[in-house]
Amino acid sequence: MSKVYSQQELIQYVDILKITIPRMNNLGIPLTPENYAVWYEYSRGTIIKLNKIIDDYLNEGKTFTREINDQLYREYIGETSSEAIEEIQAATKVIIEDLMQRMQQMTSGNSRFSSTLDECKGILQGKPDIKQLTSIIDKVIEETEVVTATNREILDNLAAMEKEVSTLQSNIQELTEASLTDQLTQIPNRRAFEKKLDSLFNDYHTKESVFSLLLVDIDHFKKFNDTHGHIVGDKVLSYVAKCLQKSTGDQGMAARMGGEEFSLLLPESDTEKAVLFADKVREYISSRKLTSDLTNKDIGSITVSIGVSTCKQDDELEGLIERADKALYLAKDSGRNKVCSEEQLANR
Ligand code: GH3
Ligand code: MG
Ligand code: MG
Repeated sequence: MSKVYSQQELIQYVDILKITIPRMNNLGIPLTPENYAVWYEYSRGTIIKLNKIIDDYLNEGKTFTREINDQLYREYIGETSSEAIEEIQAATKVIIEDLMQRMQQMTSGNSRFSSTLDECKGILQGKPDIKQLTSIIDKVIEETEVVTATNREILDNLAAMEKEVSTLQSNIQELTEASLTDQLTQIPNRRAFEKKLDSLFNDYHTKESVFSLLLVDIDHFKKFNDTHGHIVGDKVLSYVAKCLQKSTGDQGMAARMGGEEFSLLLPESDTEKAVLFADKVREYISSRKLTSDLTNKDIGSITVSIGVSTCKQDDELEGLIERADKALYLAKDSGRNKVCSEEQLANR
């Protein structure tokens, strides 16, 4: 849901934006989404510790290297960046509205010019004396100068603002995407999952469109890491993420919930359909022989356990997740490399 901002808040956000970009430019800080969030917060000044540390760095004349910026983002922004994104979005809207107002100004400048011409034409159609003619010429020249000057100024302004808006828009897009993407695997993260879940819940209530949730956990992953090392483990996480993402197609969503746990959201799927789907995914992953691209050695295969729950009447978000989680634990208890659904919980 997008928040409603007061006029005063919007003006404030636009002001913050307008100091943030030049400040970053002056300090030679690349306009990446993370940096943008850090420096937006700095201009906003609400995170006292962040401002203190940046001020200290500025006083020391320190260079804001990639490492420093990354560290500031991790320590002070991380999870809170979505609020900043919303504010930046709201501010961009204001700038676009301002832009449109200026365009209107430009057209009204032209109509003033044409009414002057009409007036002059009227005088010319009579029998103007030399004094009148001179005054018409003066008037036209004067008006043309005014209109040209105003238009040039407006055009310059427009061009500058258009540039500003398009930079902002692409920054916002990157920022939004980054805040919804898991950095290691590059698939949607838990926040993106929650958003999608919200919208599926909404569809369920408005269109009665049933959907299912799969929680996927890699089996004995700790042992895998211990045997093959964390770096290979990371690669396997990315590999599993890709497998899950490919399986869901356009309508569904695969996300990394954290660690070695993933989720799949399957629109228009009842339990039966979701369980069949989950079993295909499980079977596919367990059947693949993996090779380390670091050592080129065979590293065996991995398996996953999957818990399935399906949205039902009067369901709550937490309940749906909890049932999938319990089903996942049942799959683990039943020996791993298994799919269990919430229906099996009920039958126990
Ligand atoms: P189970 O079959 O019961 O799920 O056993 P498990 O070992 O997979 O589960 P456990 O919760 O005991 O351990 C999870 C392991 O996942 C521990 C940790 O080493 C690994 N892990 C979590 N996040 C990451 C990561 O980002 N990279 C790597 N390489 N490993 C991770
Ligand atoms: Mg596990
Ligand atoms: Mg786990």
